[in-house]
Amino acid sequence: MIYLKTEEQIEQLREANLIVARTLGEVAKWVKPGVTTLKLDQIAEEYIRSQGAVPGFLGLYGFPNTLCISVNENVVHGIPSNYVLAEGDIVSVDCGAVINGFNGDSAYTFCVGEVAPEVKALLKTTKESLYVGIEKAIEGNRIGDVGNAIQEYCEKRGYTVVRELTGHGIGKKCHEDPEVPNYGRRGTGPLIKNGMTFCIEPMINMGSKNVVFERDGWTCRTRDRKPSAHFEHAIAIRNGKADILSSFEYIEEVLGDKSI
Ligand code: MG
Ligand code: MG
Repeated sequence: MIYLKTEEQIEQLREANLIVARTLGEVAKWVKPGVTTLKLDQIAEEYIRSQGAVPGFLGLYGFPNTLCISVNENVVHGIPSNYVLAEGDIVSVDCGAVINGFNGDSAYTFCVGEVAPEVKALLKTTKESLYVGIEKAIEGNRIGDVGNAIQEYCEKRGYTVVRELTGHGIGKKCHEDPEVPNYGRRGTGPLIKNGMTFCIEPMINMGSKNVVFERDGWTCRTRDRKPSAHFEHAIAIRNGKADILSSFEYIEEVLGDKSI
């Protein structure tokens, strides 16, 4: 069941997603060698609560923290820990927040200090593929057009697309219909209509597309332990095209010329 949103509901979703955007901006200030992933989690939780919102992932399906933090070969759903970020790591930070009953959800993969050029290139392509997908999110297209565009863009550059996890509708629940795969065939899947709100979140691997789930019951990592990147925006379809509700502006203000 796909819930179409009113303009008013879309504005409430924007509010939640902008809190997430600013939270990721706060986290960006702390992403450096020597910082634990648990510290990033603490920064995020404090900031979200200071805004009168609540962390969206804490307790969601039993998840134990505010952020999903996934380092290097970890794709998504990593649990914050005492792991100390090291020079050359990449770290995907996925954040959710709820305010007035509406959800925000956005993710960004950061470089920790100097990162190998080939890993930076993976991040750049993954981020670009997110916008390539968003461009296809227009009224009259289908969800498969979005996934197909992301898949083609990444595979042409020698990367692979994770199949096990997808983007999703977003609203009063963090995960609503439809599923939004980062792969697929043009002209297939649900029709995109005004009032739809969903997250597009390419998870792109440097090696093979295969992933495994760790024994912690959460962390998804690449089977070959090669790096994986993840970027996510929440969008609304308004006036026939995508309006991005989340933002990387706060992150990139902090990163400056170190932005991918
Ligand atoms: Mg997310
Ligand atoms: Mg999501």
